Amino acid sequence: MRPGAWQSLLLMDSIYRQTRFLTSVYHPGRLPLDTGAEAAFAGRSNAGKSSVINALCQQKRLAQVSKMPGRTRMLNFFTIDDARRLVDLPGYGYAQAPETMRRHWRLLVEHYLCQRRSLRGLVLVMDIRHPLNDGDWQLLAWCAQRNLRMHILLTKADKLSRGAAITTVRRVENKLRSRAIDTSLQPFSALKRQGLDETYRVLDAWLDLSSPPYQGDQR
Ligand code: GDP
Repeated sequence: MRPGAWQSLLLMDSIYRQTRFLTSVYHPGRLPLDTGAEAAFAGRSNAGKSSVINALCQQKRLAQVSKMPGRTRMLNFFTIDDARRLVDLPGYGYAQAPETMRRHWRLLVEHYLCQRRSLRGLVLVMDIRHPLNDGDWQLLAWCAQRNLRMHILLTKADKLSRGAAITTVRRVENKLRSRAIDTSLQPFSALKRQGLDETYRVLDAWLDLSSPPYQGDQR
């Protein structure tokens, strides 16, 4: 291999690949230092959020930490580098969740979304077959209230035909517009690694990064 080739290969690699688990937080008062820049991920449980984070970071089990017993109700922080973090917010929409759990989710997530200064934007992950449930609307409302940037991933797009996926994207866009919610959105599939490039562009802009184009994107 020619001299310097390893360095150029490393430069082509996505910076998100170096992401590592930092800490889990249950109490709003225990958040890590509020400096640098963060992007948060939210979604109904089973929407596909962990798969999105793993696909973006090109790791098989990174987000599994958020599914460990006790951590499903926490904010899980991951560091990309000294100044940048990804944050996995607890899932919602469990039909059988007791009232105390719902109240805790509300307190923790609302506090985080509304107070966190280093938070640059929220990626809302929704199963393309079941978009815009009550929890999704609640999050969109908190973000809109704070003027926080939002990006929606309609994931598991591989479950629909291309035509049906496009129709759903338009339908969701219209519903958001009708409630004056200003957000970008895109279809995504962790399984097919579809839509990664577009998501990297959004995250890069929020976190002041520049990722090389993802070579394997299927769009
Ligand atoms: P989370 O609870 O929101 O973190 O969801 P997971 O990432 O654990 O995914 C829930 C289920 O959906 C799992 O069985 C995944 O294998 C599946 N899943 C996630 N992403 C995709 C996708 O892009 N396509 C398909 N077909 N299945 C997916």
